Amino acid sequence: MDQFINGYRDPQDVKHISICMVCRTEIYPRELIYRMRGGLLHEECLLAYAQWYFKTAFEKAN
Ligand SMILES: [Zn+2]
Repeated sequence: MDQFINGYRDPQDVKHISICMVCRTEIYPRELIYRMRGGLLHEECLLAYAQWYFKTAFEKAN
């Protein structure tokens, strides 16, 4: 398909709706996200977020 006919110079021009709090890359419409108090994050970024969020509670069981 000719990119100039459909009006998009670049598929990456699709406008993102927010920036992920964890990986700092764009979040696009229809992506699966978690909505947190401080912003949005990708579904796959939840573990990293949780590890950061709960880091003060993280310890070795004894
Ligand atoms: Zn992310």
